[in-house]
Amino acid sequence: MVEFLDKVLGPMDQEVSTAFQKLLVKQGIEFRLGAKVTGVEKTESGAKVTFEPVKGGEAETLDADVVLVATGRKPYTEGLGLEEAGVKLDERGRVEIDGHFKTNVDGIYAIGDVVKGAMLAHKAEDEGVALAEILAGQAGHVNYDAIPSVVYTEPEVASVGKTEEELKKAGVDYKVGKFPFMANGRARAMLKTDGFVKILVDAKTDRVLGAHILGAGAGDLIAEAALLMEFGGASEDLARTSHAHPTLSEAVREAAFAAFAKPIHI
Ligand SMILES: Cc1cc2nc3c(=O)[nH]c(=O)nc-3n(C[C@H](O)[C@H](O)[C@H](O)COP(=O)(O)OP(=O)(O)OC[C@H]3O[C@@H](n4cnc5c(N)ncnc54)[C@H](O)[C@@H]3O)c2cc1C
Repeated sequence: MVEFLDKVLGPMDQEVSTAFQKLLVKQGIEFRLGAKVTGVEKTESGAKVTFEPVKGGEAETLDADVVLVATGRKPYTEGLGLEEAGVKLDERGRVEIDGHFKTNVDGIYAIGDVVKGAMLAHKAEDEGVALAEILAGQAGHVNYDAIPSVVYTEPEVASVGKTEEELKKAGVDYKVGKFPFMANGRARAMLKTDGFVKILVDAKTDRVLGAHILGAGAGDLIAEAALLMEFGGASEDLARTSHAHPTLSEAVREAAFAAFAKPIHI
């Protein structure tokens, strides 16, 4: 994997990103971080990829069977007649909207990948629902602070809300609750003990500000944290909610316990 940044998983929590990379290295994946691809050439057996350090230095090549380009998605706004209709785009080519999905032209609204925000299916879906409600005279709303992101790898990685780095940068006083899948009964029975659940809470109010999960079923487990955040819940709310045993969801509860008091099983 050749990656421009000096970490994997882009904006995700650094601790999760470091742990995830270690797991992938164990699976045999080689990483070249801080490296930029400068060219791909087709060969008889596949492709030759040329890359060089972002900071400058010697170019290198590697032979690949196939090349998966997983970067560079941009809003596809050409050919929609936006210019003719006078619809304003921002500096990144996205359709400019106000807080209610309305463009600068009366009667034209935009949602999803063509507007600002995460380019995710569920974000587009939520905006579609909110806009339909607004047009029907109701109060449509999307809470952009509680939109989960999932990386569908083995194991999965999932995240919602703020990372530790974002909280530090914003000067927020926070606490961390963490629980490893190694100490979760279901994960042990499934032989899927890699990873952990990490919950970040406001140090004073205990309100959950972010949740990050690396491990089996992370993409499903994150829904609980997203729901909690949607309701402005605290880690104590989650910890005091009964969770069936033996399930992976108990690891989420234990991380919440770790945030507001201490976990039961470690
Ligand atoms: C390879 C890949 C994998 C992805 N995986 C995930 C994932 O696992 N989870 C996730 O959340 N998101 C994923 N996404 C992102 C997700 O697909 C998008 O965020 C989502 O589809 C955005 O919805 P949308 O309605 O804004 O746009 P789209 O789903 O792109 O819908 C726009 C539609 O407009 C049509 N169209 C374009 N021009 C015209 C025209 N002139 N006239 C009429 N129709 C037109 C297009 O054909 C398209 O059907 C993935 C994207 C890609 C490319």
